[in-house]
Amino acid sequence: MDTSLLNRFKDPELARGLVERIKQLAASLDKAREGRPLALMEVCGTHTVSFAKSGVRSVLPANVRLISGPGCPVCVTANSDLDRIIAATRLPGVTVATFGDMMRVPGSSTNMQERRAQGASVEVVYSPLDALALAEKTPEQQVIFVGVGFETTTPLIAATVKRAKTAGVGNFSVFTAHKRVTPALDALANDPELALDGLILPGHVSVIIGSEPYRFLPEHYGIPSVIAGFEPVDLLLGIVKLLEQLLAGKPQVEITYGRVVHAEGNPNALATIEEVFTETDAVWRGLGCIPNSGHVLRDEFAAFDAARRFDLASLTEHTVEPKGCNCGEILRGIMPPSECPLFGGLCTPAHPVGPCMVSSEGSCAAYYRYQIG
Ligand code: SF4
Repeated sequence: MDTSLLNRFKDPELARGLVERIKQLAASLDKAREGRPLALMEVCGTHTVSFAKSGVRSVLPANVRLISGPGCPVCVTANSDLDRIIAATRLPGVTVATFGDMMRVPGSSTNMQERRAQGASVEVVYSPLDALALAEKTPEQQVIFVGVGFETTTPLIAATVKRAKTAGVGNFSVFTAHKRVTPALDALANDPELALDGLILPGHVSVIIGSEPYRFLPEHYGIPSVIAGFEPVDLLLGIVKLLEQLLAGKPQVEITYGRVVHAEGNPNALATIEEVFTETDAVWRGLGCIPNSGHVLRDEFAAFDAARRFDLASLTEHTVEPKGCNCGEILRGIMPPSECPLFGGLCTPAHPVGPCMVSSEGSCAAYYRYQIG
């Protein structure tokens, strides 16, 4: 991308102008709402980190509250799924291949880093293709790739499964814990404790799915929604657009990240997902079981489905959540990280108690690193 274009989205002058505009709009809204603060949620973990890093939170007027949502894929992975992945590390002849962020996420009794220290075969990979290459290099091992992520990562995993099938790689499979964003947004929009006034929608996911799948937010729930980028000017512009929609009383889905997001998304990526996966109910940490919010491999690809191939559900013990951890409330947006009694004391990035402090995109880790609270 043209760096001069990118620099415009970091321009301090532009940012100052937008902050002024936010203050004007917020003042007008404050009168209309008789002092009731506005609750705007940034859904995606990368936005949470960008807001924290840029300091945007600190320049917002008091009546504009930013809430961090459930957009960290590692964090929303349910403990029951983690326990299944950890159970797989106990199977003889099995290598579990995972993104590094998952290594320290605590399951009910241990995590993958500890399992590796105990001698289990656990490999960190940077892409599902690395896991497939590992399977091809070690035909004596069964390689299970841990498929965690939203629609941003699902197309590459789907393409990898297709490649494995075409190449006839019989010792590769995927544990599918993928999530779909829109059913979770539906659950959040329905949550009376949240009463959202606006949503900053995920930029990366929207590159894949486009803006159309979000139309129910303004049309059914009346919630203003903006697909924003990640630079300071992107973030501020996203807030300006939400406040303008609120003031005008005309909620809609606006794209302010038009340099990469288009209404129709990425048709090729969507077709690849559709070919390999089908929708299924999925359990989210904090949000519970949400209908059609997950992806599972279609029957034609069942041979690459680790859960079916190894019957992992029957191998797991009773699932328990990390003691004292409030990640569920944090992912639902009803508690800011700094209100968790363990935040910054018993729970830090060096000694994390829950996944929101482990993952680089977790709200607790971002709030701790940039001292928000
Ligand atoms: Fe869980 Fe730690 Fe976050 Fe508290 S601070 S919610 S214990 S991850």
